[in-house]
Amino acid sequence: MSANAPNPGREAEFTIPIGLTDDEGRIHKVAVLRKMTGREEAILADRRNQRNGGKLVSELIASCLVRLGELPKGGSNTVERMYSADRNFLLLKLRTLTFGPELQATYTCGTCGESIQVVEDLDQLPVKMLQDGESPDEIIVNLQDGYLDKDGQVHTALTLRLPRGDDESAVAPQMRQNPSLGKNALLSRCLKSLGDVPRHRLEALGPKILADLTMTDRRLIDRALNTSAPGVDLVREVVCGSCGGSFRATLDMTNFLALA
Ligand SMILES: [Zn+2]
Repeated sequence: MSANAPNPGREAEFTIPIGLTDDEGRIHKVAVLRKMTGREEAILADRRNQRNGGKLVSELIASCLVRLGELPKGGSNTVERMYSADRNFLLLKLRTLTFGPELQATYTCGTCGESIQVVEDLDQLPVKMLQDGESPDEIIVNLQDGYLDKDGQVHTALTLRLPRGDDESAVAPQMRQNPSLGKNALLSRCLKSLGDVPRHRLEALGPKILADLTMTDRRLIDRALNTSAPGVDLVREVVCGSCGGSFRATLDMTNFLALA
């Protein structure tokens, strides 16, 4: 076996949905992961990591990422620069590689309140790859209601970039306190332009702009960043065995990296 071939059983090769662009503009998309070991068990158990999900994911992936394209092994700094969609994809593969694709999940039926147990197959989750001509740094959302500035002008053309690991780490404290305020902080980091609002105003207003948007518009942004963006689609169609109703739910990740 050559030194570059993945170690069968312990290592596996994956193509990530977006990829990491280096300083010369080359995109690195082929990742080799190895199974988690006792070293990663210690990372998972570290209380400092449990307080910051973004940092935990960076540490875990950095520890198990044998190679990403032709990049030199860069540790957690490299992984922090990766898009969240790629990080979540790798985390999912890390789980599958180490513990298998079956995941015990629990959902609550919105109609009858029944608790539904499902064994998910993580290998069956749809993955959307970045298409040719698409840019992870130019996500355009046409707001319906728009942002009303202090002069009474309405701005509707919103441009965002997809969130990265460093964004996740930076907003983790807010996210823990209040997921909605955490989301405002995350999106304001990713906000590139909003109509004619000058750059310095955007930066000064920060998360406040996101808080001022209507829930209609916030849903449009969610859709652009989740359903239509590259990455693993974690939204599931769940059927209730009790009342027969079906509903959409985000994959229950409670037992995702359970050590048991
Ligand atoms: Zn039901």
